[in-house]
Amino acid sequence: MRRFEILEPKSIAEACKILAAEEDVKLIAGGTALLILIKQGIFVPKTLINLKKIKDAGEITYNSNDGLRIGGLASIYDVESAAVVREHYPLLAEACHVVANIRIRNMATIAGNLAHADYQSDPPAALVALDASVELTNRNRVRSVKLADFLIGMYETGLERDELLTGLLVPPPPPNSKGTYLKFATRSSEDRPCAGVAALVQRSNGICQAARVVVGAVSPVPVVVTGADLVNGTAMTSESIEEIASKAQAAVNPIDDLRGTVAYKRHLVKVLVRRALTACLNEEGTR
Ligand SMILES: Cc1cc2nc3c(=O)[nH]c(=O)nc-3n(C[C@H](O)[C@H](O)[C@H](O)COP(=O)(O)OP(=O)(O)OC[C@H]3O[C@@H](n4cnc5c(N)ncnc54)[C@H](O)[C@@H]3O)c2cc1C
Repeated sequence: MRRFEILEPKSIAEACKILAAEEDVKLIAGGTALLILIKQGIFVPKTLINLKKIKDAGEITYNSNDGLRIGGLASIYDVESAAVVREHYPLLAEACHVVANIRIRNMATIAGNLAHADYQSDPPAALVALDASVELTNRNRVRSVKLADFLIGMYETGLERDELLTGLLVPPPPPNSKGTYLKFATRSSEDRPCAGVAALVQRSNGICQAARVVVGAVSPVPVVVTGADLVNGTAMTSESIEEIASKAQAAVNPIDDLRGTVAYKRHLVKVLVRRALTACLNEEGTR
């Protein structure tokens, strides 16, 4: 049996104080990732800091000037079901909705998902497409970092030892934009993604003003497809969608793992980008 002490701070400030003072500690939120690692003996912390007793740290608020703020302790289900997320950021709601199953989504927090930084995850690609930032808090200050810069590598982030991920900030969505997230899982419908694609297209009177495509789950961090803006100022056609899909395929350097080979994932990326961009043009599709 593994023995550890559990501390239960009641505020972010108290959690930061413990984190700064204790050496052999680990934060725990939903526990869906960390407990597996503890059981496998990968981490054997002396002390766990349970964040779930902190009140009001998972609030989700929106205003049209600043956009969305998601408290780090919001569960993935809280995010997918929040009315403001569904209305203004359906791309994010979709990416959260396809995570695992309802039991995991109820326990797992959005901050835990990002701090754990497993490359086979769904929300990061959608959040990078939406240009989200993370809010990082320690005893002395709060700083904000673009999620694309925060995610450094496989299980590697810009989180410092004394910091908590206390929130996510998502700017207001571009006007007249539609986004979609497509996930492909190879082992079961509840499994982690083999590949995931987030696409966000801004259009006015049939003319594309901006297109952003982010490929998740195939490389250590989400890959922003450069060159997706080739459609800016044009009516997007199936030919230009095909060109972006080819660029995406060339941009990724997939990891060979039990969910798929390099060649399979490359093929998948092209198919998913084509489908995601086509869905963004479809008036019946998701926003
Ligand atoms: C069966 C199963 C299926 C899954 N399927 C998917 C899937 O399809 N798609 C997908 O995206 N994910 C999937 N996941 C991963 C799941 O989304 C993550 O395990 C979960 O989001 C982690 O959140 P948590 O609150 O449980 O984190 P925890 O397990 O509590 O913590 C994870 C890590 O984050 C750190 N941490 C937690 N909160 C904070 C914080 N506020 N500040 C700083 N560090 C923090 C912890 O110290 C730990 O290192 C799956 C997991 C399981 C078990």
